[in-house]
Amino acid sequence: MTHSKARLIRSLLVALFVALPIIAAAQGAVRPDADQRVQKIVAAVSQDRLQQLLTRLVSFGTRETLSNQASTTRAIGGARQWIFDELKRSSPRLQVSFDTHQIAPQGRITRQVELRNVMAVLPGKSPRRIYISGHYDSLNLGDRGQAGLNTGGGGNPQASAEFNHDVEAPGANDDGSGTVLTMELARVLAESDVDFDATLVFICWAGEEQGLIGSAAHAQDLVAAKATVEAMFNNDIVGNSRGGNGVVDAESVRVYAVGPEDSMARSLARYIARAAAVYVPSHQIRLMAREDRFGRGSDQSSFTQAGYPAIVFREANENFSKQHSANDTLDGVDFAYLAQNARVNAGAAAALALAPSAPKVTNERGQNLLSRGASGYDADMRWAASPGAVAYRVYLRDTWSNDWQRQQTIGNLTQFVLPNVSIDDFVFGVSAISGDGQESLVSAYVSPVRRSAEVKVIK
Ligand SMILES: [Zn+2]
Repeated sequence: MTHSKARLIRSLLVALFVALPIIAAAQGAVRPDADQRVQKIVAAVSQDRLQQLLTRLVSFGTRETLSNQASTTRAIGGARQWIFDELKRSSPRLQVSFDTHQIAPQGRITRQVELRNVMAVLPGKSPRRIYISGHYDSLNLGDRGQAGLNTGGGGNPQASAEFNHDVEAPGANDDGSGTVLTMELARVLAESDVDFDATLVFICWAGEEQGLIGSAAHAQDLVAAKATVEAMFNNDIVGNSRGGNGVVDAESVRVYAVGPEDSMARSLARYIARAAAVYVPSHQIRLMAREDRFGRGSDQSSFTQAGYPAIVFREANENFSKQHSANDTLDGVDFAYLAQNARVNAGAAAALALAPSAPKVTNERGQNLLSRGASGYDADMRWAASPGAVAYRVYLRDTWSNDWQRQQTIGNLTQFVLPNVSIDDFVFGVSAISGDGQESLVSAYVSPVRRSAEVKVIK
């Protein structure tokens, strides 16, 4: 161990002993890692209901964005009304609505269309929002489906005038799986009788297959309304455990989170991994430090673009030959696996919705509240108090590592000094903790890339 590391650990230990009586006073008694309210929510996820919902959803034949809107039994018009009715039926606490947009022709939207996202809001004590989503629209690109596109099978046929929008497109896994996961979580969280701090929004998108149209329109409205969105859990293709290469994995799920390293999306991904370890220890979270898979995307990117922390869940091994074809049928969905992925979403979203908002670690001008302190050689962290927080937890790690290495819970403070710790050599973060022990996302102090003015030269 280097001299400076030893010094760092010593200073943390000293600070920990100083802080201990404060923590003990705040907590009163030893608290288990898992919150019983969240455990009950996770246990309420029903594999049978996921299967019932998906069987019904697939029975509409297609849910293609430009498919028939008039029929109540087939295509997108019937499907969205059924999702609406089912959400409404599942709990009186849910405020269910259509989020309707008139979309002009553009790209793969070849004619003007009325697009409807289906939304259920579970109001919390605070208007700050946590989103859980999947896209209910489906797509059939022909025999080879997505595998054809992946292997360079010509342009996207959707842009052609001859494209048949009413052909069979069951979309059981893409993204019927994410749709019914969202619907089941709406039921489970609303029926839990837990009063969440955050407002939970369960939303089933349309227009994803034409370029994230529904989520982009919604995100634009959020920005215009200056809404606070603290997290977006997107689920797209989360129900199949057998890859097209024959590899079977029903014990893990991938979480893609866009960078940079200390983005709030990465913070959200780390949070999900920790929550899953507590509430669904039988399931493994594989964190992916990138926006999404190669050449593929989904609705989380609409939120990223709007400046909101967003991640996407993706099944462990995909079967590309089923996606975007008539073969994306119910028999390709492993409901036990889908239920595990739903439990991970439920545990992490419920815990986060009970927590205070993450501390703000920048000032009005966006500058870090991190300095070298009075001595010029300390790490002096400051932050704005989060409403409802009774304690904070400070984190640090080496700049070259990608997850927190040390942490320490402190009292109800908005400043913490680590003596003789260089702010240049570590990354620092802070989270807020509520009276009932729920922790927020970790806000990191990030140094932005410095931009210098263009040098004027005389030619
Ligand atoms: Zn999809």
